[in-house]
Amino acid sequence: MEDKTSIIIATKNKGKVKEIRHYLKDSGIKLLSLNDFEESPEIIEDGESFKENSIKKARIVAHAFNKPTLADDSGLEVDFLNGKPGVFSSRYSGENATDKSNRDKLLSELSDVKELSARSARFVCHLVLWDPQKDLLFETDGICEGDIGFEETGSGGFGYDCIFIPKGFNRTMAQLSEDEKNQISHRGKALKNFVSFLEKNKYIF
Ligand code: IMP
Repeated sequence: MEDKTSIIIATKNKGKVKEIRHYLKDSGIKLLSLNDFEESPEIIEDGESFKENSIKKARIVAHAFNKPTLADDSGLEVDFLNGKPGVFSSRYSGENATDKSNRDKLLSELSDVKELSARSARFVCHLVLWDPQKDLLFETDGICEGDIGFEETGSGGFGYDCIFIPKGFNRTMAQLSEDEKNQISHRGKALKNFVSFLEKNKYIF
């Protein structure tokens, strides 16, 4: 297909971009991300929910580039921590947080929780498509239940993957192949709904 439909993914997170591209590889959609532009608008993720943040990201980027934009806001909710880190997942350990420093903080907060069953958690994703001419076109959620392991295991994925053991598995998310992760992950489930939406609506950008 020469004149590919193109949409922007409103993120610089290379892990997310890789997963979304992998999931939509047969869709005929050309996927750009904020890494493909020299400059992109600053987005302050100050919403109280994944929904609020994803809509904000998609709206700002769609209007800045005048292109349909897909935004995912996602994170980890740990029951023992009453749902934290939640919307603070990417900056849980502070201003200059890295994936590693965030995982270290989480593991240390759970260090007294010795039973795996008491370390239950879930990844949550809210996915939004915003069209600069038509505003909010589509939104959906995806959830992946699991437990927080006791140490880092595996090298795939990103973020909290190497300490998250999805329900029904005895491996961390970081030990799954890209296809396996996409089949069960919060983002994979949301993307599945997105693909159904595209198919049903024969949506041409
Ligand atoms: P966002 O860019 O504000 O949506 O932040 C998402 C943050 O949640 C990431 O930086 C990760 O820390 C975490 N996260 C979201 N999805 C995943 C995932 O699939 N695996 C591991 N960590 C994730």
